[in-house]
Amino acid sequence: MEVVKPVIRNVLLNPGPATTSDTVKYAQVVPDICPREQEFVDIMTEVRKDLVKVVHGDPEKYTAVIFTGSGTIIQDVCVNSLVPEGKKICVVNNGAYSARMVEIAQYYHIPCVNLEFSTTGLPDLKVVKETLEKDNDISVVATVHHETGTGVLNPIKDIGRLAHDNGCIFVVDTISTYGLMPIDIEEQNIDFLMSSAQKGLAAMTGASWTVGRIEEIKKSKDYPTRSYYCNLYMQYDFFERVGEMHFTPPVQTMYALQQAVREYFAEGEQTRWERLTKCWEAIHKGLEEIGLGTVIDKEIQGRLVVTVKAPDDGKFDFFKLHDYCYERGFTIYPGKMFGLQTFRLCNLGVITAKDIQDFFVVAKAAFEAMGYTLPIK
Ligand SMILES: *Cc1c(COP(=O)(O)O)cnc(C)c1O
Repeated sequence: MEVVKPVIRNVLLNPGPATTSDTVKYAQVVPDICPREQEFVDIMTEVRKDLVKVVHGDPEKYTAVIFTGSGTIIQDVCVNSLVPEGKKICVVNNGAYSARMVEIAQYYHIPCVNLEFSTTGLPDLKVVKETLEKDNDISVVATVHHETGTGVLNPIKDIGRLAHDNGCIFVVDTISTYGLMPIDIEEQNIDFLMSSAQKGLAAMTGASWTVGRIEEIKKSKDYPTRSYYCNLYMQYDFFERVGEMHFTPPVQTMYALQQAVREYFAEGEQTRWERLTKCWEAIHKGLEEIGLGTVIDKEIQGRLVVTVKAPDDGKFDFFKLHDYCYERGFTIYPGKMFGLQTFRLCNLGVITAKDIQDFFVVAKAAFEAMGYTLPIK
């Protein structure tokens, strides 16, 4: 695809939206089209199939259902649509994004067992097991694969097995791993996963989807309808009968997503994962050179987000660091941890280890401008 005009490239180290390729940006510039035209329906159909393929789903068992919205919309859809009458959802909660699913359940008045664990460690599987064995009203177990707020990677395969052993379906927010880290949906014991266009696939904000078990979606037809716009079965049914979204799709966002999926397959999942791992290693190397520590043990990091401990000597000013970097094309993000001054460096998008090295040249200068002599002791 030809790019007609150069556009300034920013390196986004925030937890999404991610740095996109120029070809994805320009894929949005298309002749105006009514999304009810067969030409657009064909794009939808192709993209839906590919979204299942990204996670190696068997198309006989799994399908992709897309909604118009940011990532939270698909959390909303999965939480409100998959809990039968009189049953409960259990959220294995060790971070901000699982906490959001708890909140969604509360907003819909869905009975919810909130299994809270430390946000800096892994959930205790013994507690999960005991809870599921004790409470037969739990029918959905939900968690987050990679807690973007901290960078902790959860043992989803094990949690999924516990869910299945106890007759529950397993719903996983993979919004910050899908399209980044290789995932085999069935092998990981996942019945429903979630993703959003502006994260792993490095496309544009505005489309989010679940890849889920067709059999379970069909069952959900008889569950309480708690939302109109965000009902999973209604959207699935429309896709199956008509081939498109029930309501207006994010037209240009879909063209960008189609291009981003092509670029995903062209790069290859292993090559992409190796590129991102190199970025993550470059982040740790750069931090060591500055003399900064990290919050989460390296062994449990998802290799896509690093939570950095800010110096607590009174000299550190996140906004100064942010602005200095931002003016030079690099975006960093504050931390999401209670009682600790942190910031985050995320490697989600179309970036390379060279971008990270370039970032650290700028970051070192920013620390020196704040009055530090490097490395910080
Ligand atoms: C980004 C993200 C979301 C969704 O956030 P939005 O702001 O609605 O896009 C949900 N879960 C995880 C794990 C995320 O990283």
